[in-house]
Amino acid sequence: MKQYWNIKAKYSGMMLFFRLGDFYEMFGDDAVKAAPVLEVVLTRRVGIPMCGVPYHSVNSYIRKLITKGFKVAICEQLEESGTTKGIVKRGVTKVLTPGTILEDTLLESKENNFLMSVIFDDTAASATFAAADISTGEFFVSETTLKSIEAEVLKYNPGELIISAGSMQNKHISDFTAKLKVSVSDIDNSFFDIEKAQNITAELFGGNAVKKFGLNKKEIVCACGALLAYIKEMQPQSVSIFSEIKYIRNSDFMYLDTAAIKNLELLNSMTSGKTENSLLSVMDSTKTPMGARTIRQWLIKPLLDISKIKNRQNIVRFFIKNPNVRKEIVEKLKTVSDIERITARVSSGSANPKDLTALKNSLKTINNISGIIKSAEGLGFNIPENAQITNKISSYLSDEPPVSLKDGNAIKNGVNAELDELRKMSTDTKAYISNLEAKERAASGINNLKIGYTSVFGYYIEISKSNAASAPKHYVRKQTVTAGERYITEELKILEEKILSAQEKTLRLENSLFNNLVQEISVFTADILKTSQIISEIDIFCGFAENATEYNYVCPKISEGRELSIKDGRHPVVERILKNGEFTANDIAFDENSKIMILTGPNMSGKSTYLRQTALIVIMAQIGSFVPSQSAEIGLVDKIFTRIGAGDNLAGGESTFMVEMSETANILNQYTQRSLIILDEVGRGTSTYDGMSIAWAIIEFLADDKRKANTGAKTLFATHYFELTGLSETLKGVVNYSVDIKEWNGDVIFLHKIVKGSADKSYGIHVAKIAGMPHQVIERAYEILSRLEKNSVEYSKRDESPQIEFFSDSGGEPQILTELKNIDIDSLSPIEAFNIMHNWKNKY
Ligand code: ADP
Repeated sequence: MKQYWNIKAKYSGMMLFFRLGDFYEMFGDDAVKAAPVLEVVLTRRVGIPMCGVPYHSVNSYIRKLITKGFKVAICEQLEESGTTKGIVKRGVTKVLTPGTILEDTLLESKENNFLMSVIFDDTAASATFAAADISTGEFFVSETTLKSIEAEVLKYNPGELIISAGSMQNKHISDFTAKLKVSVSDIDNSFFDIEKAQNITAELFGGNAVKKFGLNKKEIVCACGALLAYIKEMQPQSVSIFSEIKYIRNSDFMYLDTAAIKNLELLNSMTSGKTENSLLSVMDSTKTPMGARTIRQWLIKPLLDISKIKNRQNIVRFFIKNPNVRKEIVEKLKTVSDIERITARVSSGSANPKDLTALKNSLKTINNISGIIKSAEGLGFNIPENAQITNKISSYLSDEPPVSLKDGNAIKNGVNAELDELRKMSTDTKAYISNLEAKERAASGINNLKIGYTSVFGYYIEISKSNAASAPKHYVRKQTVTAGERYITEELKILEEKILSAQEKTLRLENSLFNNLVQEISVFTADILKTSQIISEIDIFCGFAENATEYNYVCPKISEGRELSIKDGRHPVVERILKNGEFTANDIAFDENSKIMILTGPNMSGKSTYLRQTALIVIMAQIGSFVPSQSAEIGLVDKIFTRIGAGDNLAGGESTFMVEMSETANILNQYTQRSLIILDEVGRGTSTYDGMSIAWAIIEFLADDKRKANTGAKTLFATHYFELTGLSETLKGVVNYSVDIKEWNGDVIFLHKIVKGSADKSYGIHVAKIAGMPHQVIERAYEILSRLEKNSVEYSKRDESPQIEFFSDSGGEPQILTELKNIDIDSLSPIEAFNIMHNWKNKY
């Protein structure tokens, strides 16, 4: 335990896996925390909690801890037990943190595993972040605001986020990290030191790195430097995978905030939190892990550059028009391995022989793909030549190498003369053994005498019990087994040593030859990563073409204008969940005269679906995909905002209404006339009049924003407040739509069809009636409705609305009178009446 605590002291922030024979043990707090996660029994010895896992399945246990955000330090026995006196020497040989793992078994193949660093400015208003994946060699850096950094974390979904311990003193920053669902490591401030950052970037990318990558701010350099320094500490071999740092200009991509990414279910479904039924799940038809990871990145970065979008569309169109070419490529893609992650292992020196075979085979297949692509004009893919790599691997590596070098025969015969010699010696000596066996049989006259081998005792001569008495004198007895007696001889021991040392030398030599090969291949890292990137894109484009063909998507017309016109649009996810033909397609048309669409209709009629499908089609279009509709004309959208009821941050401690309002405020402060705004039931979270007033004022604001530059954003507003439909009469650009329902044999049928005009005011009562509500209730509801209608709200324009005063000079009705008229005496309790009087007394 003394040894344990000494080592543990150096790895206090980590789970220490302490090797004890065939087990890794955890003690103390580590054990208490790990046992429930690992689902192993927590025991106690001399008062110390402990739990353990068997060494041969350790990876699956590490995985459980890493995915829960723990860091793990592996402490091995550094010498054979029994070879020294006292306690076996132990030491940490490997450290695994969620953001710095390379082991294939610990990584999700379809997702990047980013390590992210964040730096805030002194006021914590703006943030600089870098994200790097040591398993793929990608390295990004960008700038954003405190408000938007959460969205960036959601987009990159890092395995681990590092932040300087000092900055955690700031409440805004600690609040931000507390909200995150990723593993946060607050590390020493010195990691973020500018000088250190400059040195480490220069060391890796050359003295002009900062200039070369356009890292023109101190914070940017520091964010990158911190990442590199942390990686260097955890996985020193891994930093060499990075060949460039990409500065991401946010203005190059559509703005999507946390709410939009979540509400529109771009990456995960809100109900399950998993990929299924997300936009990603329907758009991703990729066949390679690299393709799957890249499309995830594309999805949260829809483009704003028409020529780039058109370029993508052209490639998709090519693959639609040439299904045979596509199918041929797709079949080949299915056999391509994860060359990106293999390259990361090559570059860090942890690749195994099977990795190199997979790399070789994949590159050969990619050569074929390259040939097919080249013969197709104008696609513009330029896959680097790779014959040098494949030839090198072919000429060194055995055709069927073992996973582990320990099993031998990884290197071909004829590669190295010394290796060939050693191998010959080892086969020769094996022949000596069988010769010796024959010789001993003849000499002793014992016909069932055998020579065998165990790893503990080495070579031995075995004689059955019945013959043991006639064993020659010079045989030295070593062991008794049920079958008989085992002996050694001088000659056998000499032979054994020869064989074993030849085998050991062979392995050592193979090891070094293999490492040389890996080293030689690592020179091509940048080339292979480039190849991988192109293959990802081809994979994505083939998938887009496949989807377009199978689900009848069309190519959207993208323009610089501001129109949005979709004919027979469908929700890409809902249409796949429903049975064939069950989805009702709907049009949408925004233009100069209709910019704000107020959508009314009963619950479950399809309002949300319609709102979301509009946003999803725009996103798909700007990613370069075809879209689910008859036709679509889309003026570039710069930002998509959503305010959708479900998924309120109740757990986060904020009230539903507060979330609703702050999200809406966010939208109103950030939108531009190119934005698409989706508001679903805004105002629902408070009392009717309160909510309706806010909704009303929001629509007025959007229709006539005094900051003129913003007026005209495309807005879809679904609401229960029927009263809002009157706004179309006074506000330019506001139009009413509703969802059609029909009564059929006493049932309500939802047609899911969006039609012009507002819904029938009494549809709710109508639905209640069909649902079998007692007659008396229905009658009374109609009565109350008509009473309420008489007091109907006036749709006056904001600027013209009279100032409310008790006795108005302008000839309007005194407010107290209006209020009096609005009271429904039939439904008023005495105590409510008293309260109203009391309020008047105070107010007037
Ligand atoms: P609302 O927002 O009006 O309450 P939703 O948009 O949530 O209604 O739709 C409710 C359900 O109706 C959806 O889950 C879906 O199954 C179905 N639905 C919605 N729109 C359509 C459509 N266009 N065609 C077919 N079914 C639809």
